[in-house]
This record gives sequence, structure tokens and C-alpha cells, in this order.
Amino acid sequence: MNSIEKYDLHCHSTASDGTLSPTELIQRAHEKGVTSLALTDHDTTNGLAEATLAAQKNDIRLIPSIEISTTWENKCFHIVGLNIDPEYPALKSGIKNTQILRSERAKKIASKLEKRQIPNAYESVIQAANGGMVTRAHFANFLLAKNHVSTQQEAFDRYLGKGKSAFVSTIWADLHEAVNWITQSGGIAVVAHPLRYKMTASWMRRFLSYFKEIGGQGIEVVTGRNNPDEIRRAMLYANQYELAASVGSDFHSPDNKWVELGRLAPLPDNLKPVWELFNQ
Ligand code: AMP
Ligand code: MN
Ligand code: MN
Ligand code: MN
Repeated sequence: MNSIEKYDLHCHSTASDGTLSPTELIQRAHEKGVTSLALTDHDTTNGLAEATLAAQKNDIRLIPSIEISTTWENKCFHIVGLNIDPEYPALKSGIKNTQILRSERAKKIASKLEKRQIPNAYESVIQAANGGMVTRAHFANFLLAKNHVSTQQEAFDRYLGKGKSAFVSTIWADLHEAVNWITQSGGIAVVAHPLRYKMTASWMRRFLSYFKEIGGQGIEVVTGRNNPDEIRRAMLYANQYELAASVGSDFHSPDNKWVELGRLAPLPDNLKPVWELFNQ
């Protein structure tokens, strides 16, 4: 690897719940020294066309990518598809279905909030998303703006998190199908933020062996906020299941001063970097 190469393989734009347009995101990535960037919006590839143009102007290699919401055994997992073909028909129709699920879920979340005397959430999040995917992050921002909570985290703790008053359980894309959309389009399926699922070790083992069996090839080892112990745990998973290692900040907004594009710990060198799979 060229020593000045800097990869960031997980981030969001206004096509989903990021606050920067694809062009602004690419410019910022360039300023932060990123040389290869994967735009991974939630369940949409709509930001990729603009990002591609901006990447050409800023001398960045854009890896066309996505973060797909999936369900396996009633649990939600985010799967990043790196280096996909956004025009692949099964991928396009698969995410279209998820987009419908997202918009139906948004209506249900809003009606739960309405029952708790918090009106107009749906109109507000639709306006804020401005044609992009609506996620719970939009609801968290709405609750914050209306002073129902004082932090995003509190919005999840009180209303939006699993089991809370405005939580709407959703069956997302089937994990196996989503991995197929990614791999058959020429991409690499990667488990996003593996330590964020609050699963027991035995569930995690079952999940990772299944993911590997169905053609999953990578796992995020270095993310925007993890500490050395978390990197070590993710590294053990990568080695144990022979998954390539990915690095991604999961950047959403300059407002979050803890997470920055390209600000990532180095990848431990006993791992296979996921980018070595891009050109095979
Ligand atoms: P969704 O995919 O619609 O369920 O929304 C998930 C998004 O909400 C994530 O991608 C994050 O952007 C955001 N999110 C999830 N949990 C939290 C949290 N505890 N605090 C702040 N943002 C969160
Ligand atoms: Mn998000
Ligand atoms: Mn995610
Ligand atoms: Mn993400």
C-alpha cells in the first residue's frame, strides 16, 4: 500500500441521514486527506452520481457503495456493500422495497409520537430528508429541535430505541438476499460496526458463520469511535471467520466532533485489507 493512501469506507450524505451533500462530503474527505472514499447511504444509491462527479474534480477514488438494513432471525444488521454496481437490477428492486418499508415505518413512528402529544413529526422529517431516506436520526433531530429531548442519544433512550415508546419493529431485507444483491452486483458484503449489536458471544458466532456461509467477505475492524480493545475484538472476529478487514468512520455530520472523515486508527497488519478484494 502506498503510504499516503487513506481509506474511509463508510459515510453518509443527504441522500440518507448525513448532513452534507455528496459534493460537500467529497470536498471534506479531500481536505482530510482521504484518497479512497466509499459513500454508504442507508438503503439508497441516489447520492452516487453526484459523488462520482465531485470525486473526479477532487482527485478522490469513489467506491460506489451502500449500507443495507437487513434482518436475520428477527435481529437487525447493517451490511455495507462495497464496490457495488448500483445499476444491478436485483439490487435496485431490493432496495426499492426497503425504501417503501422506511417510509411506512416513518408514518408509524410519527403516529406513535402523536399519541404522546408530539404532533407533525412525519411532515417535519419528510421535509428535513428532502427526498432522501428517512431514518431514526431524522426523528431524533426533530425531537431535539422541538425540545422534547436535549441530546440525540436521549431521543433514542426515551422514544426511538428498541422497545421504547415510538419504536416500530421492522422486518428489513432478508440478510441472505441482501448479501446476494451485493455480491452478484460485483460488490463485497461487509458487516458494519460489529460491536454495536448488543449480542451475546454465541449469537455473534452463529451470525458470523452464517454470514460467511452465504458469501459475506468482510467485517469492519476500525470505525470512527472504537478504542483499542474494540479493534482487538473485531480483529479476532476477522481472523476467526477469515473475513477481510474494513475501515470506515460512519461519518454523518461535522456537528459530531467525535467522528471525522478519514480519522481512523491504523488497521492492524495481521489482517487482509478489504480493498485488496476490489480489483479481483
Ligand atoms: P434507522 O436505520 O432508521 O433505524 O436509523 C439508524 C440511524 O440512526 C443510524 O444510522 C444512526 O445514524 C442513528 N442512530 C442510531 N442509534 C443512535 C444513537 N444511539 N444515537 C444517535 N444516533 C443514532
Ligand atoms: Mn445513519
Ligand atoms: Mn449502521
Ligand atoms: Mn452508517
